[in-house]
Amino acid sequence: MNKHPTRILILADLEGSSACWSYVASSFLTDEWARACLGMSQDVSSVVSALFDAGVASITIKDFHRTGYNLFADLIDARARIVSGYRQGPVPGVGNPANAQAVMFLGMHAASGSDGFLAHTLTSRIARLTVNARLLAEVELFAASLAPWGIRPIFFSGCPVACEQATAVIEHLDCFPIDKSSGPQSFDASAWRSALAQAAVKALSNSNAKPYQPVGPMEVSVTLREGKAAAVRLAHRWNFELAGEHIRLKADQMDQLYKSLIKLCYLTPLTENMLPLALMASNLRGRFGIMWARRRLRQLGCLS
Ligand SMILES: [Zn+2]
Repeated sequence: MNKHPTRILILADLEGSSACWSYVASSFLTDEWARACLGMSQDVSSVVSALFDAGVASITIKDFHRTGYNLFADLIDARARIVSGYRQGPVPGVGNPANAQAVMFLGMHAASGSDGFLAHTLTSRIARLTVNARLLAEVELFAASLAPWGIRPIFFSGCPVACEQATAVIEHLDCFPIDKSSGPQSFDASAWRSALAQAAVKALSNSNAKPYQPVGPMEVSVTLREGKAAAVRLAHRWNFELAGEHIRLKADQMDQLYKSLIKLCYLTPLTENMLPLALMASNLRGRFGIMWARRRLRQLGCLS
């Protein structure tokens, strides 16, 4: 008989969570975002509680939306460890995945260039990102960055397009979709949340999923929303190859590709050189943001 994993890592995003219904709700320091943080915290909380009830011994939650500070810790079982903000490595953003055996992805979204809900890959500045002519979803980068630790991707939740993209590349991944096509009025968040938690518990029995480590060579093409001038600027900045208006990258491993994309999307040579300081500033901004969101929700009567 297969034993369930008892040490779980959760990567949580906002776009595919239950109270994010627009781009404004995914944007820093808006009332809609504050409400979306509350919904995301409740989603994560119900999954975490159900996993502990099912016998999971340790849970680490990595908040992966924008600043990395979108969760209200007091709404989540105190036995879980929440990692807010970003760490330099060894796993980009996550830091040390420590002793996790399996990873669950919550609140995810589809890839840039597809018609999923708030679809983007790493940043909305990327209009389209392909690897060997196929759209690349973030889940592949995250799952691949955890593979060297033997961490298996077992569960994924996001819009139906995001689920389709994830299962097309990561074999045996259990999925639970969130359908936002008919709007928030007819959406029963608490029923959806309970079903999400049940599906996550069921995924503990997913013994078929293996660490995701696709093999290269990978031919990557990045198209920026801002067009050719931006592509020329970024390609020049990092000495990347340019083909027309597309930036071309080559990689043998997906975790290697992830590192190049982080440079392209988030860094300049200056911030790369002083990364610990840049991360500290970004994490401070995130801390301030979630404090603002809590105060705003109190004013709106949504939090006590
Ligand atoms: Zn996000």
